[in-house]
Amino acid sequence: SHRFSVIQTAPPDAILGLTEAFNADPNPDKMNLSVGVYKDENGQTPILKSVKAAEQKILDSEATKGYLSIDGLPEYRADVRNLVFGETLAADRVAVLQTPGGTGALRVAADFMRTQLPKARIWMPNPTWANHPAIFAAAGLSSETYRYLGDDRTSLDLDGMLAALNDNAKPGDAILLHGCCHNPTGIDPTAEDWKQIASVIAEKNLLPLIDFAYQGFGDGIEQDAVGLRTVLEHVDEAIVCTSFSKNFGLYSERVGAVSLVAADVEQCTAALSQLKRVVRTNYSNPPRHGGAIVATILADEQLTRLWKEELETMRLRITRLREQFVETMKSTGSGHDFSFLLRQKGMFSYSGLSPMQVDELKSKHGIYIVGSGRINVAGMSETKMNSFCEAVASVMS
Ligand code: PLP
Repeated sequence: SHRFSVIQTAPPDAILGLTEAFNADPNPDKMNLSVGVYKDENGQTPILKSVKAAEQKILDSEATKGYLSIDGLPEYRADVRNLVFGETLAADRVAVLQTPGGTGALRVAADFMRTQLPKARIWMPNPTWANHPAIFAAAGLSSETYRYLGDDRTSLDLDGMLAALNDNAKPGDAILLHGCCHNPTGIDPTAEDWKQIASVIAEKNLLPLIDFAYQGFGDGIEQDAVGLRTVLEHVDEAIVCTSFSKNFGLYSERVGAVSLVAADVEQCTAALSQLKRVVRTNYSNPPRHGGAIVATILADEQLTRLWKEELETMRLRITRLREQFVETMKSTGSGHDFSFLLRQKGMFSYSGLSPMQVDELKSKHGIYIVGSGRINVAGMSETKMNSFCEAVASVMS
């Protein structure tokens, strides 16, 4: 018999499966609020103008397709350091490696922890991005969850979170935090909350692993780094996983970075050498193009200004959609108050819709939402807001 005949089909990715169903749906008014990609008013995810201009520059000037070094483009790595840490850290305490997307960064970090910090368990918020537990499991890390979402499903249970860490985390464990724009809930700690979280991390001697995939989508580029920088005022070791998929719209180019903060330059150098070993045995060295785009934009004052404007346009569109949704839901007279969406940040929110209501939105209205009730706010449309809210009100009645 054939050796592959015993292989079982893996379950499809829940969210990507929904997009396949969406694409096959003939309903002309269909809306996809499932996948985590920014959309403009026309439901498109266009290439940023700053990115196009940078690509043109690269096309004209690129002289070689020779390999990058294991840790990627030097100017890109400096850019990541500036965006994430600003002026807060001595450069020689931070090792930055360019990675294939934020997912690549998380996997490199996980492999590094598995081999170099073999006793560390990783504490994840409940809920978290579905790929987090999958990546850590694939790397062989053991993971645990800490309380994050309050019973109302619309706010952070800070006391529950801190108690879980205080009672159960062991010194030396790692803690996964979303730097901003928590996926899937949109619920972020306040600046005051971050101070308390940072204190517990310091007291318990936990290693922060900060997933930073939405910088600039919450309150702004610098504002969104406040939590991460607060943590780094309390501890001198951390790992940050950056993604530029969303804030540069570079999804398919796979642009990210893992940044390791060490107590001093010697420890930083040793850790970097181990991170490089992880990369070498995985994908050897990162792809150039996406990193070159980011570096080209950030080396050019005009392109940087343009990129910041484009990012701000995306951020403000999401904020406007949140406000419009809350107002329009009020006017349906359904009696459901969605004002909690105004306090949430980034592309996602937990809507509170049940799996059955989510199903009905799909079958009756062609509106696609993840089973947990997580909505991609950027998938809403100003012109279709009334019909969308009518549909939501009808399944909730
Ligand atoms: N982390 C979070 C929380 C995300 O939502 C995503 C993307 O959806 C990523 C990391 C990884 O992004 P990418 O690998 O596409 O850069």
